[in-house]
Amino acid sequence: MASFNHANDTGSPPAAAATPTLGVGPLPLDAGEFRRQGRQVVDFIADYYDRIDEYPVRPTVAPGFLARQLPDTAPSWPEPDALASALRDVRELILPGVTHWQSPRHFAHFAATASNVGALGEALAAGLNINPFTWAASPAATELETVVTDWLGKALHLPEQLLFCGGGGGTLLGTSCEAMLCTIVAARDRKLAELRGDERMGDLVVYCSDQTHFSFKKAAHVAGIRRANCRVIPTCRESGFTLSPAALQAAVCADEAAGRVPLFLCATVGTTPTAAVDPLRELCAAVAGHGVWVHVDAAYAGAACICPEFSHIAAGAEAVDSFSTNPHKWLLANMDCCALWVRHPTALVAALGTDDDVILKDAAASAVVDYKDWQVALSRRFRALKLWLVLRCHGVEGLRGFVRAHVRMAAAFEAMVRADPRFEVPVPARFGLVCFRLRPDKYWIWM
Ligand SMILES: *Cc1c(COP(=O)(O)O)cnc(C)c1O
Repeated sequence: MASFNHANDTGSPPAAAATPTLGVGPLPLDAGEFRRQGRQVVDFIADYYDRIDEYPVRPTVAPGFLARQLPDTAPSWPEPDALASALRDVRELILPGVTHWQSPRHFAHFAATASNVGALGEALAAGLNINPFTWAASPAATELETVVTDWLGKALHLPEQLLFCGGGGGTLLGTSCEAMLCTIVAARDRKLAELRGDERMGDLVVYCSDQTHFSFKKAAHVAGIRRANCRVIPTCRESGFTLSPAALQAAVCADEAAGRVPLFLCATVGTTPTAAVDPLRELCAAVAGHGVWVHVDAAYAGAACICPEFSHIAAGAEAVDSFSTNPHKWLLANMDCCALWVRHPTALVAALGTDDDVILKDAAASAVVDYKDWQVALSRRFRALKLWLVLRCHGVEGLRGFVRAHVRMAAAFEAMVRADPRFEVPVPARFGLVCFRLRPDKYWIWM
């Protein structure tokens, strides 16, 4: 049986001498103890990676399996060497019930790529444990975020209009869904200000394709867009499941003719079903003059823009209002890290800025970035440290090599699937994604 027994409260109050105090309580982090425990955790993680390919990728467990094995309440006192016994429980109780996303045999969803420096960057940020919601709340953390988002934007060949050096700017959020929500809210408030009032809220319309990530509808709903005002434009196989500029334009014009107000387009570079790339330049041209905020969701495939041979997938981004991608998906930055760039940061700040709280006001506010005004929450993580480490320690060329290796593997796998008569490849492999299926008429070969 596993080692936990804290329901029995075998622990006891720690001896006073063992716990350094400031007179009022323990220090936030005891250096000596941290060194000892840190080695245990680093060894634990390293041992895990040494043997990760031996685990079944997906656990065979039934709902409730873990809760049944754990006590109903937290321990009153720590057991002796509580971290060691907790780590034992991680190994014996928790690892058998996780899906091993980093296993070399895990092919579900899009990847969540990890690296030594990605993990250590997380550790460093957790260790420092700062909260850079304003520039003053941690100047270097804020400035590192402005530097590293410009670095990444340049590495991805994004247009300067989206970078600080070109009048725009980037931030690091947790997920692409947050990027969608923040940009819809920015577009909404800008539009309502233009219309001089909130009464038109129910007339605002957002556009996407039937291949757009489902989270877009949720973001629009959270932003207060009527569910009936989310236009999902059908795509077809002949056009590679990309959003048709003509169909978009027709939908926008129809809404205007009916007295509604086109607000926001979510285009995708690398759709979730087939990694299709919507034609940004043509889509921007189709809505030009209609006052539509164009956002690009490049959560997965945006990483490919780091290779010159793929950077054409973002062609036309000079005209978009915002662009986001997840370095935690395909650029070796461990969870979580979504980079969002906007052409007009003032639109984000106008919608999400808060200056009610005197304590949070920066004296030099106009001269600095206060990232709390670029996101939903106030508090935030020091993600820039991790992304900076990844960029420094791999280099842009290193990341290119990584992306190219995935693309080569996908091409090799696609060739194998195509050579097998039991399967078909309904759309050509794109980036690291190969879509394939059993040919219905060939099932018998397997039987
Ligand atoms: C993964 C993915 C998302 C969702 O990303 P989150 O960061 O989990 O919100 C959205 N859009 C696309 C195209 C994706 O690949």
